[in-house]
Order: sequence, then structure tokens, then C-alpha cells
Amino acid sequence: MGLRCPRDASALVVGQEHGIEVDRCGQCGGAWYEDDELAALESTVVDDEHRLGTIDFARRESELQCPVCAAPMRAFNYRAYNLELDACPEMHGFWLDAGESARVRDVMKERVRGLRRSHSAQRAWHRAKGGDAGGVIDTLKDLFRRR
Ligand SMILES: [Zn+2]
Ligand SMILES: [Zn+2]
Repeated sequence: MGLRCPRDASALVVGQEHGIEVDRCGQCGGAWYEDDELAALESTVVDDEHRLGTIDFARRESELQCPVCAAPMRAFNYRAYNLELDACPEMHGFWLDAGESARVRDVMKERVRGLRRSHSAQRAWHRAKGGDAGGVIDTLKDLFRRR
């Protein structure tokens, strides 16, 4: 069965975006991402540890309908950033307008920078590098630094 674009009803065609196979609209440049495809998109930028975060759901009803089940989709702020995506309430997937997949990647990059600045990420970073996991001395140093 062919999916149709929720914006202009054009037939979606399978294509590549950032190396991920998704259903794309040749008319408006939007794309339909299933849950694992959106995860794959994030993983082009960050590892799984950094992907954890909020998908903050369902602030308002979107004007778009899910291409799979035709339910009205929900607009939500992607991971609490100022990037509004549309998602099927039945979790069939996400609609990303043209350019929004690039913004998802930007959000992820921003997030990685933020996490690297934070204490817990520093420790995870050390662990990932196989270095000192952050012993008592480091913990004390951190405590002092925070005062
Ligand atoms: Zn379209
Ligand atoms: Zn649906």
C-alpha cells in the first residue's frame, strides 16, 4: 500500500535521507519517519546514551493526518526544543517537513555539546574512553569546583 503525503496527498516514495531509508514526498520535501527510523536519524549524530531524553508529547492537535491510519496527528516539541514535529497518536511514525530532519540532527548535536559540559557526561565520557572512571578524588574536586 502506498502512503500519501499528509500535506499535499502526493504519493510518498522510498528514498534516502541522511543515509536512512524513509518515505519521502517529492512535492513538498517532507518525509515520514517510523519510530526506529527517527532513532536511526538521531544515531547518525549521537550514540544511544545521549539519545535518551524527552519526546514531549502531544501539545495540540496537528492539521495533518497520519498517512498510515488517517488519525489526526499531534504536534509536539521535539525533545523540548523549539522544533515542532507531527506524530501519530498510535505511534505509526513522525512527519518531518522539508528541512526538519536536518534540524533534528542539529538538536542532537546541541544536546551532545550540552551533555559534555555536564558532570555526568564527563564521567561517561571518561568511561567510554576507557580511562579513569572518576574516583573519589575526582568527585571531591567536582564538589569543590561547584561551590
Ligand atoms: Zn508533500
Ligand atoms: Zn497512525
